[in-house]
Amino acid sequence: MAEEKLVFQAEVSKLLDIVARSLYSEKEIFLRELISNASDACDKLRYAAITEPGLIADDPEFKVTLATDKKARTLTVADNGIGMGHDELIENLGTIARSGTSAFLDELTGDEGNDMALIGQFGVGFYSAFMVADSVEVVTRRAGEASGWRWASDGRGEFTVAEAEDAPARGTRIVVHLAKAEKEFLEPERLGRIVKTYSDHIGLPILLIGGKDEADDQLNTASALWTRPKREIESDQYTEFYHHVSHGFDEPWLTLHNKAEGRIEYTSLLFVPSTRPFDLFDPARKASVKLYVRRIFITDDCEGLLPPWLRFLRGIVDSEDLPLNISREMLQDNPMLARIKTALTKRVLGEFKKKAEKEPEAYAAFWDNFGAVLKEGIYEDAERRDDILGIARFRSTAPDGGLVSLADYTARLKPSQEAIYYLSGEDAEALGRSPQLEGFRARGVEVLLMTDPVDQFWLPMVGEIEGKPFRSVTQGGADLAGLGEETAEGKDEAADEASAGGIDGLVAMFKLALSDDVKDVRTSERLTDSAVCLVADEGDMDMHLERMLRQQRQMGAPSKRILELNPKHPLIRRLAGAVGESDAADRVSDAAHLLLDQARIMEGEQLPDPAAFSQRLASVMERGIPG
Ligand code: ADP
Ligand code: MG
Repeated sequence: MAEEKLVFQAEVSKLLDIVARSLYSEKEIFLRELISNASDACDKLRYAAITEPGLIADDPEFKVTLATDKKARTLTVADNGIGMGHDELIENLGTIARSGTSAFLDELTGDEGNDMALIGQFGVGFYSAFMVADSVEVVTRRAGEASGWRWASDGRGEFTVAEAEDAPARGTRIVVHLAKAEKEFLEPERLGRIVKTYSDHIGLPILLIGGKDEADDQLNTASALWTRPKREIESDQYTEFYHHVSHGFDEPWLTLHNKAEGRIEYTSLLFVPSTRPFDLFDPARKASVKLYVRRIFITDDCEGLLPPWLRFLRGIVDSEDLPLNISREMLQDNPMLARIKTALTKRVLGEFKKKAEKEPEAYAAFWDNFGAVLKEGIYEDAERRDDILGIARFRSTAPDGGLVSLADYTARLKPSQEAIYYLSGEDAEALGRSPQLEGFRARGVEVLLMTDPVDQFWLPMVGEIEGKPFRSVTQGGADLAGLGEETAEGKDEAADEASAGGIDGLVAMFKLALSDDVKDVRTSERLTDSAVCLVADEGDMDMHLERMLRQQRQMGAPSKRILELNPKHPLIRRLAGAVGESDAADRVSDAAHLLLDQARIMEGEQLPDPAAFSQRLASVMERGIPG
């Protein structure tokens, strides 16, 4: 077969450009990536050999070897793992198959600081070799296959693939042709230090060929990190292991290393990242904790190991009890796995609770990253619902501005308060300025601000906490009268009296003018400063939820709202005063439409007829400005 010339997928080319600009300050991490891949390849073959022992019969000892050639200026990283066939080679080293890749690349701005942070979460893996290489050769043979293949590229748009006579018996040899400036990666001491720093936790030997006295030097400890006693593991080693399993560059926010003994036996080493993985909200909601059985890697795609709402966890679980020769498909239904899941979930939630209580500030950072994911569990995991509600945190209108728990909230209820009030929308800051909150604020009633889309799902399902129902402040009557007096600022009884007569007439005229646009017009208890606001009728859908569904085209025409008028607002009072006058009808009609549009704008909604809005605004201004 002749040599094939192929082009990289556009995403890869883009990634390679970034790599060439050397965004990483630590170029040496390319070695960690190649060793990480070599180790993964050995893991995969070890798993395949459970059912097909012949694959490794000739050479049962897995290892990774490093070799340097000063004259040729090459560093070679070789493994006797699974290797790659022709098509795999093109697929794996010509494309990026990971979901969310193009969305991720779109977020890259060209600003080095920003891109660096983003790419840290993504990990460029194999392609990082081009940080130090003029060109890279990959010579590989899939275990059990007759032909081997050579892949070669200078990382500029194209690569070649051809059959290779000199391929290893099985596994992969990666020859990095180092750029002139990167000769340091030929030095044995340098390589030794890099391996010790980043790859010591790798559970198979990493050998430097032809070290001192021509003997091969083993550069790492070569025992899987999680099998070592906790007290012998340094925090740096945990971090490096985390980088290996997560492909990330951040520090773990939390490290949980635990050995369970007794009815079920397993070791878990789990990490919570300190930044959001880029694919956190990918619809597949895939977990990525790796499952091992007695030190043998089984899968990193095990559905039943952890619930989807803990999918931000990284790390490994190593079971002593699961059968080795179980197919990945059968695994999901294994009762032992279900028990591990239950135990792990409980443990992890327990640790979150501890953190929440002991280190509320650190916990707040965690919650900002992953709270929205955990809340999916409230909705879909009845068994864990109460635990998650207990560690859930919310922004609220409480003056200190911090995150509050439901327990905090219920402890602060006003004596006559019968509901847990909330306001939902996209952004806590904008929500804080909503007119619908005014009356609650004036009475010192705290309102929770719900800003995650998932809130719309669990709120109706949970319904109430300790007998107090959740109630949206933009829905139904506000029932504020029972919640105590407004503080002095908001109160203005004299004005109340003065306009009481005209207000009923005004409401009637508004209803007439807006009969096509709103369900009802009424005076408001919730407003103190703003003239008007929109609310949903008692039985209707929350306005924010409806907007969300419309955005996703899951709902057709918007339902009609109720327009509430603030009888104390000077503008409304004046309008009420004018009701009896002869030319009132037109002026009130203009005002009614303008105020409705204003309320829509405050809701962050599009105006149905912006042209009519501007015309009315201009004519009202014209009348207002003496000529
Ligand atoms: P990742 O390791 O995150 O999947 P990489 O860019 O590091 O991404 O590698 C891409 C893919 O190339 C791997 O998933 C694997 O299928 C394949 N690959 C890379 N190196 C090797 C190797 N030494 N042996 C076998 N396959 C490899
Ligand atoms: Mg990799």
